Amino acid sequence: MGYVNYHPVYLDLKGRTILIVGGGNVALEKLESLLYTQAIITVIAPEAKTEIQEWHSEGRLTWIQRRFEISDVDPAYMVIAATDDPAVNQLVYRTGNELLRLSNSVDDPTNCNFIMSAITRHGPMQVAISSAGSSPALAQRMRNRIAVEILTEDIGNLAEYLGDWRPEVKKTLPSYKLRQAFWEGVIDSTIPDVLRTEGREAADALFEDRLHSAVDASKSTEPKIGKVYLVGAGPGHPGLITIRATQVLAQADVVLYDRLVNPILLKYAKPAAEKVYAGKDRGSPGMPRQIAIHEKLIAFAREGKTVVRLKGGDPFVFGRGGEEALALKEAGIPWEVVSGVTSSIAAPAAANIPVSHRKIAPAFGVFAGQEADDATGDGIPWAAAALMPTAIFLMGVERLPHITSQLIEHGRSPDTPIAAVSNGTLPHQKVVVGTLSDICSKAVGLEPPAAIIVGEVVKIAESLNAVLAEFGG
Ligand code: SAH
Repeated sequence: MGYVNYHPVYLDLKGRTILIVGGGNVALEKLESLLYTQAIITVIAPEAKTEIQEWHSEGRLTWIQRRFEISDVDPAYMVIAATDDPAVNQLVYRTGNELLRLSNSVDDPTNCNFIMSAITRHGPMQVAISSAGSSPALAQRMRNRIAVEILTEDIGNLAEYLGDWRPEVKKTLPSYKLRQAFWEGVIDSTIPDVLRTEGREAADALFEDRLHSAVDASKSTEPKIGKVYLVGAGPGHPGLITIRATQVLAQADVVLYDRLVNPILLKYAKPAAEKVYAGKDRGSPGMPRQIAIHEKLIAFAREGKTVVRLKGGDPFVFGRGGEEALALKEAGIPWEVVSGVTSSIAAPAAANIPVSHRKIAPAFGVFAGQEADDATGDGIPWAAAALMPTAIFLMGVERLPHITSQLIEHGRSPDTPIAAVSNGTLPHQKVVVGTLSDICSKAVGLEPPAAIIVGEVVKIAESLNAVLAEFGG
């Protein structure tokens, strides 16, 4: 079915005359959403709900107790037909439409030259949603989500606060581009938080400082240096990114993202932000890949850009985030780390394996499986790994035979439970469970990325109650 491509506008109805024909529940609902506009409202209906009568006696609207007449439309700027008689509604709409009035017959899109949207508002901030009549229920649902998750009272207050500063900023920063960058900076700064927790005066002090610095910076000839955020994207499920990560993504001019980052998360960046895949890039000839990434981060920051280096899981867990931070520090580039949910904990959790347990696993260790190297004798402290109540190996699928044999060699029982969780938290997650002696044959063909978990906690996933009973929990 086709639908009308409506264009949303925000009408200033203050002092305008609105005619509502009908006095029942439908009219009441429309009135509730129109009274705040300070329009001059006339209700025409032989009978009216108590609320309408009350509003009439309070002077908030005028109720005229009779049937609709064609001449009623004349003084109106907007006409709303809200009776339970389709013929009357159609007559009201047609009369209004012919006289070029904004005309609406409630719940009857074919007899409307404008429709009303589901709205949510706080202070000057307002979001209006429409489905062009396709599904008002879905529009309401989206409106509710926005009201709860996004357009909160704090945002309304913030909008009002920023609005009060707007004329001053316009006067102080002459160029549109400068002002745009300034406002973005204010929104991303601590000012919104300070306004919320400490109030206007505290926020004003910070605001003034920022405005002065912006003026100074606009006069300075020194090149502006950007900032690099080393950000964790979580283990894969798009809900497991942090709020802070989505905030810095929203500020980014450039995002360099890794292979294990769920690409859906790039939607948090501005459409205009440059997105650079830094996964399979082997770097320039003769240049190790990691060094090439460092150089890119530094180069973007020196262009004055805000850079997000988006990494799977947590950026400081085997992500080479530490190396990147050191390189940035050396180059004199400001940087900040934004922690993420690491797959070393989230992948086991997604398979119902708690990495610790007060009785059976008071400690857990996370090891880099790919460091296992038979020739050189290893980067992994095998004795420690074998002693660890829960030992977690990342990057270890291909080295599984080596990992299991080393653990057994260093004293871990061949019967120790072990699990491999591939693509943890994602829809195609796969879990293989066994013991150190049989996992290799069971896990043949298991796809990376996978987390390998060794220890009694694996049993909890298999039978939570049995394990707890066995250890007297
Ligand atoms: N910084 C990342 C780890 C990077 S090393 C973090 O904190 O999660 C890459 C390894 O992480 C992979 O080889 C795999 O062992 C593990 N990994 C990443 N995503 C995973 C997932 N969804 N499920 C299981 N393991 C995952």
